[in-house]
Amino acid sequence: MNRKILLHCCCAPDATHSINVLKEQNFNIVTYFYNPNIHPEEEYKKRYKEMEKVIKNMEVECVNNVNYDIDTWHKICDRFANEKEGGKRCELCFRLRLEETAKKAKEINIDFIATTLTISPHKDADIINKIGDEAAKKYSVNYLYTNFKKKDGFKKSIELSKKFNLYRQNYCGCIYSLNKK
Ligand code: SF4
Repeated sequence: MNRKILLHCCCAPDATHSINVLKEQNFNIVTYFYNPNIHPEEEYKKRYKEMEKVIKNMEVECVNNVNYDIDTWHKICDRFANEKEGGKRCELCFRLRLEETAKKAKEINIDFIATTLTISPHKDADIINKIGDEAAKKYSVNYLYTNFKKKDGFKKSIELSKKFNLYRQNYCGCIYSLNKK
Protein backbone atom coordinates (compact mmCIF):
# COMPACT_ATOMS: atom_id res chain seq x y z
CA MET A 1 0.00 0.00 0.00
CA ASN A 2 1.43 3.39 -0.93
CA ARG A 3 1.47 6.33 1.46
CA LYS A 4 0.01 8.69 -1.07
CA ILE A 5 -3.12 10.51 -0.05
CA LEU A 6 -5.59 12.44 -2.15
CA LEU A 7 -6.51 15.43 -0.01
CA HIS A 8 -9.80 17.05 -0.87
CA CYS A 9 -9.16 20.78 -0.36
CA CYS A 10 -12.21 22.96 0.21
CA CYS A 11 -10.11 26.15 0.11
CA ALA A 12 -6.51 27.32 0.32
CA PRO A 13 -6.52 28.58 3.94
CA ASP A 14 -7.96 25.29 5.21
CA ALA A 15 -5.42 23.32 3.17
CA THR A 16 -2.35 24.93 4.80
CA HIS A 17 -2.33 23.42 8.28
CA SER A 18 -4.02 20.20 7.06
CA ILE A 19 -1.11 19.62 4.68
CA ASN A 20 1.37 20.10 7.53
CA VAL A 21 -0.45 17.56 9.70
CA LEU A 22 -0.40 14.95 6.92
CA LYS A 23 3.26 15.66 6.16
CA GLU A 24 4.02 14.91 9.83
CA GLN A 25 2.31 11.55 9.30
CA ASN A 26 4.62 10.88 6.33
CA PHE A 27 1.95 11.07 3.69
CA ASN A 28 2.85 12.01 0.19
CA ILE A 29 0.11 14.55 -0.52
CA VAL A 30 -1.79 15.14 -3.73
CA THR A 31 -4.35 17.95 -3.43
CA TYR A 32 -7.72 17.92 -5.17
CA PHE A 33 -9.91 20.99 -5.43
CA TYR A 34 -13.40 19.72 -6.16
CA ASN A 35 -15.97 22.21 -4.90
CA PRO A 36 -18.93 22.68 -7.26
CA ASN A 37 -20.79 24.26 -4.32
CA ILE A 38 -18.97 27.58 -4.70
CA HIS A 39 -21.07 30.48 -5.97
CA PRO A 40 -20.58 32.58 -8.05
CA GLU A 41 -18.10 31.37 -10.66
CA GLU A 42 -15.74 34.33 -10.07
CA GLU A 43 -15.47 33.26 -6.44
CA TYR A 44 -14.74 29.69 -7.55
CA LYS A 45 -11.92 30.90 -9.78
CA LYS A 46 -10.55 33.09 -7.02
CA ARG A 47 -10.45 30.22 -4.50
CA TYR A 48 -8.94 27.91 -7.11
CA LYS A 49 -6.17 30.43 -7.79
CA GLU A 50 -5.37 30.68 -4.09
CA MET A 51 -4.98 26.90 -3.99
CA GLU A 52 -2.28 27.23 -6.64
CA LYS A 53 -0.30 29.42 -4.21
CA VAL A 54 -0.52 26.73 -1.53
CA ILE A 55 0.58 23.99 -3.94
CA LYS A 56 3.63 26.06 -4.90
CA ASN A 57 4.56 27.28 -1.42
CA MET A 58 4.04 23.97 0.33
CA GLU A 59 5.48 21.84 -2.47
CA VAL A 60 2.69 19.33 -2.88
CA GLU A 61 1.31 17.66 -5.97
CA CYS A 62 -2.16 18.35 -7.31
CA VAL A 63 -4.81 16.97 -9.58
CA ASN A 64 -6.08 19.74 -11.79
CA ASN A 65 -9.78 20.32 -11.87
CA VAL A 66 -10.83 23.52 -13.53
CA ASN A 67 -14.41 22.42 -14.23
CA TYR A 68 -17.10 24.45 -12.57
CA ASP A 69 -19.94 21.98 -12.18
CA ILE A 70 -22.49 23.99 -10.21
CA ASP A 71 -25.48 22.36 -11.99
CA THR A 72 -24.62 19.01 -10.40
CA TRP A 73 -24.45 20.66 -6.98
CA HIS A 74 -27.85 22.39 -7.41
CA LYS A 75 -29.50 19.19 -8.60
CA ILE A 76 -28.45 17.44 -5.40
CA CYS A 77 -28.63 20.18 -2.79
CA ASP A 78 -31.45 22.55 -3.76
CA ARG A 79 -34.17 20.53 -2.07
CA PHE A 80 -32.66 21.62 1.24
CA ALA A 81 -32.13 25.23 0.23
CA ASN A 82 -33.73 26.51 3.43
CA GLU A 83 -31.72 24.37 5.85
CA LYS A 84 -29.40 26.07 8.28
CA GLU A 85 -25.64 25.71 7.76
CA GLY A 86 -24.64 22.35 9.21
CA GLY A 87 -27.96 20.72 8.28
CA LYS A 88 -29.07 18.26 5.61
CA ARG A 89 -27.91 20.39 2.66
CA CYS A 90 -24.38 20.39 4.01
CA GLU A 91 -24.39 16.61 4.42
CA LEU A 92 -25.32 16.20 0.75
CA CYS A 93 -22.71 18.78 -0.20
CA PHE A 94 -20.00 16.90 1.76
CA ARG A 95 -21.07 13.60 0.20
CA LEU A 96 -20.92 14.92 -3.34
CA ARG A 97 -17.40 16.28 -2.84
CA LEU A 98 -16.07 13.27 -0.95
CA GLU A 99 -17.53 10.70 -3.33
CA GLU A 100 -15.89 12.51 -6.23
CA THR A 101 -12.59 12.53 -4.30
CA ALA A 102 -12.83 8.78 -3.63
CA LYS A 103 -13.67 8.13 -7.27
CA LYS A 104 -10.70 10.18 -8.42
CA ALA A 105 -8.37 8.42 -5.96
CA LYS A 106 -9.43 5.05 -7.34
CA GLU A 107 -8.94 6.29 -10.89
CA ILE A 108 -5.37 7.49 -10.28
CA ASN A 109 -4.41 4.62 -7.98
CA ILE A 110 -4.11 6.44 -4.64
CA ASP A 111 -5.02 4.34 -1.61
CA PHE A 112 -6.06 7.04 0.90
CA ILE A 113 -8.32 10.07 0.91
CA ALA A 114 -8.92 12.82 3.48
CA THR A 115 -10.56 16.23 3.51
CA THR A 116 -9.64 19.67 4.84
CA LEU A 117 -13.31 20.22 5.74
CA THR A 118 -12.66 18.97 9.27
CA ILE A 119 -10.56 22.05 10.11
CA SER A 120 -13.58 24.35 10.18
CA PRO A 121 -14.92 25.25 13.64
CA HIS A 122 -18.36 25.51 11.98
CA LYS A 123 -18.34 21.91 10.77
CA ASP A 124 -18.85 18.66 12.66
CA ALA A 125 -15.83 16.41 12.03
CA ASP A 126 -17.78 13.28 13.07
CA ILE A 127 -20.38 13.82 10.35
CA ILE A 128 -17.74 14.60 7.73
CA ASN A 129 -15.67 11.55 8.71
CA LYS A 130 -18.70 9.25 8.58
CA ILE A 131 -19.62 10.47 5.10
CA GLY A 132 -15.98 10.34 3.98
CA ASP A 133 -15.64 6.76 5.16
CA GLU A 134 -18.82 5.71 3.31
CA ALA A 135 -17.60 7.46 0.16
CA ALA A 136 -14.22 5.73 0.37
CA LYS A 137 -15.83 2.31 0.86
CA LYS A 138 -17.99 2.87 -2.20
CA TYR A 139 -14.84 3.15 -4.33
CA SER A 140 -12.66 0.67 -2.38
CA VAL A 141 -10.16 3.20 -1.06
CA ASN A 142 -9.28 4.09 2.55
CA TYR A 143 -10.56 7.13 4.38
CA LEU A 144 -8.26 8.79 6.87
CA TYR A 145 -10.22 10.09 9.88
CA THR A 146 -9.09 13.60 10.80
CA ASN A 147 -10.03 16.51 12.98
CA PHE A 148 -7.65 19.15 11.71
CA LYS A 149 -9.12 21.80 14.01
CA LYS A 150 -7.62 20.01 17.04
CA LYS A 151 -4.50 21.43 18.75
CA ASP A 152 -5.27 24.96 17.55
CA GLY A 153 -5.47 23.75 13.96
CA PHE A 154 -7.80 26.50 12.82
CA LYS A 155 -5.65 29.20 14.45
CA LYS A 156 -2.55 27.76 12.77
CA SER A 157 -4.31 27.85 9.40
CA ILE A 158 -5.00 31.57 9.90
CA GLU A 159 -1.32 32.20 10.67
CA LEU A 160 -0.19 30.23 7.61
CA SER A 161 -2.72 32.04 5.43
CA LYS A 162 -1.18 35.34 6.51
CA LYS A 163 2.30 34.01 5.80
CA PHE A 164 1.32 32.99 2.26
CA ASN A 165 -0.84 36.07 1.74
CA LEU A 166 -3.98 34.05 1.02
CA TYR A 167 -7.48 35.37 0.49
CA ARG A 168 -9.85 34.20 3.26
CA GLN A 169 -13.50 34.07 2.23
CA ASN A 170 -16.22 35.16 4.65
CA TYR A 171 -18.90 32.64 3.67
CA CYS A 172 -18.83 28.87 3.29
CA GLY A 173 -19.39 28.69 -0.46
CA CYS A 174 -22.88 28.04 -1.80
CA ILE A 175 -25.43 30.68 -2.78
CA TYR A 176 -27.46 29.99 0.37
CA SER A 177 -24.51 30.60 2.65
CA LEU A 178 -23.69 33.76 0.68
CA ASN A 179 -27.24 35.08 1.12
CA LYS A 180 -27.08 34.49 4.89
CA LYS A 181 -23.90 36.54 5.37
S1 SF4 B 1 -23.12 25.95 3.67
FE1 SF4 B 1 -21.16 25.14 2.91
S2 SF4 B 1 -21.17 22.94 3.35
FE2 SF4 B 1 -23.26 23.70 3.54
S3 SF4 B 1 -24.20 23.35 1.53
FE3 SF4 B 1 -23.38 25.43 1.50
S4 SF4 B 1 -21.32 25.25 0.68
FE4 SF4 B 1 -21.96 23.20 1.27
